[in-house]
Amino acid sequence: MAATLVWFRNDLRLADHPALTRATERGEAVIPVFIWASEEEGDWPPGGAHRWWLHESLHALDTDLRSRSSRLILRSGPSLDTLRALIDATGAEAVYWNARHLPALHARDAEVRDALEADGIAVRTFASRILHHPDAVETTSGGPYHVFTPFWKKLRSQLEVAEPLPVPRLGERRAPASWPESASLDDFDLTPVEQDGVDWAEAMRAEWTPGEAGAQDRLEHFIEEALIEYPTERNRPDKRGSSMLSPYLHHGELGPRQVWHAVNAWVHNGAMREAADVFLSEIGWREFGYHMLHHYPDLPMEPLKAKFADFPWRDDAEALERWQRGQTGFPIVDAGMRQLWALGWMHNRVRMIVGSFLTKDLLLSWQNGARWFWDTLCDGDLASNTLNWQWVGGCGPDAQPFFRVFNPITQGEKFDPDGTYVRHWVPELTELPDAYLHKPWEAPAEVLTEAGVTLGSTYPEPLVDHAEARERALDAYQTVRSS
Ligand SMILES: Cc1cc2nc3c(=O)[nH]c(=O)nc-3n(C[C@H](O)[C@H](O)[C@H](O)COP(=O)(O)OP(=O)(O)OC[C@H]3O[C@@H](n4cnc5c(N)ncnc54)[C@H](O)[C@@H]3O)c2cc1C
Repeated sequence: MAATLVWFRNDLRLADHPALTRATERGEAVIPVFIWASEEEGDWPPGGAHRWWLHESLHALDTDLRSRSSRLILRSGPSLDTLRALIDATGAEAVYWNARHLPALHARDAEVRDALEADGIAVRTFASRILHHPDAVETTSGGPYHVFTPFWKKLRSQLEVAEPLPVPRLGERRAPASWPESASLDDFDLTPVEQDGVDWAEAMRAEWTPGEAGAQDRLEHFIEEALIEYPTERNRPDKRGSSMLSPYLHHGELGPRQVWHAVNAWVHNGAMREAADVFLSEIGWREFGYHMLHHYPDLPMEPLKAKFADFPWRDDAEALERWQRGQTGFPIVDAGMRQLWALGWMHNRVRMIVGSFLTKDLLLSWQNGARWFWDTLCDGDLASNTLNWQWVGGCGPDAQPFFRVFNPITQGEKFDPDGTYVRHWVPELTELPDAYLHKPWEAPAEVLTEAGVTLGSTYPEPLVDHAEARERALDAYQTVRSS
């Protein structure tokens, strides 16, 4: 019996998976394959938290497939050689996959397609990672958008989101007479090694359930419990006001079409419509990231505003490390960085605060931040991470000029007003009264003593004076502004 290989990449689900669905429609055996080939990912091989999630997600996908008399064949790359070997072993006549829309992988995928087609294999690729084709939206003068609002307005006006596909029928009829050999998931070495008895993934395991079922649960829970209040609560890191769907979307355990239709199906009145639109515009930001990356493939390392290439960033390894470890002495910044380290995720408002702190208060380049996020985020996504770091650094698309500097104290007081978030992630400050929680250095000595806080010992002194650091950032900005 002939077979079709379905090459899973970052679309680790069975529902709304066009490559899998179309493969089953061929009426032949279907062989799901995942190839670990991190060296083919250019300058951005998967980071540590991403790898942990991937391990769990591949396990979940294999389990789901096995419950349908199928399985996931795991192999290590190179991708083309591996697909050819599998074709030889199985007699497959077709290979199907879903596009990833990443410039660095464009050439690799084109090479694989051309080579397989030259071998006489039927190759078909499909789109399901984003809602639009990156070429499909352009300004009236014919170029890419640089500002989100008009981009999203245009995209929404022309968007027709197809209904998501159901899980296709697999079962014995789609199983090959014999399965090709598979590597063991452990061979990929994706999970972090315990160091000094510290289990880095413990908190991640407690928070997340990687895999398609976990994604669906989280989506349903969010829609039922939190979506109506999303417009007001999404900025509050102390509450579960946002969906926390980003890692699921990133690994493709959930597709944006599924989110789109589930959210719209929930709407039954004006207030729900309003909440849904605010939420869907965040999905729009995700689209915008892919739009930008498609048109500016160098964006992950090069500032969109070229004059920022000469920006006088500082080089200060110690300050960078204190930022990375959540030891800056600014509680909201430290809480965010520790949340990131523990969960592989950080609340969006706090991502903006820590990003501003790195680039403006510390004057360390946004590329440093993008790299660290890449390694520590479960949702580290080249399009979204790049767009947002350029935005935070003031050198990218959209209107976030460099001179808009977030104040980490007032941001903390506004978005974590009773300190729930800071107390959770920076427990050494738990006993400090609210009035000083976001600025412990202003607390009188007796208040610090009472709270068991010794600055410089139990909690760091602030790494900078925010007002002075702000002035330094604005001075630095003048050098590129006038250039
Ligand atoms: C410096 C910085 C770096 C970031 N890096 C990433 C990244 O690597 N991967 C990533 O998915 N998001 C990134 N974001 C965007 C945003 O912070 C996360 O998508 C969001 O916090 C995820 O939480 P959520 O799923 O609860 O979001 P929700 O508020 O529930 O939003 C729903 C979905 O919309 C998308 N989304 C929301 N905000 C944005 C945004 N600003 N840009 C792009 N997509 C968005 C995400 O897919 C998210 O899951 C970054 C933001 C900043 C400021």
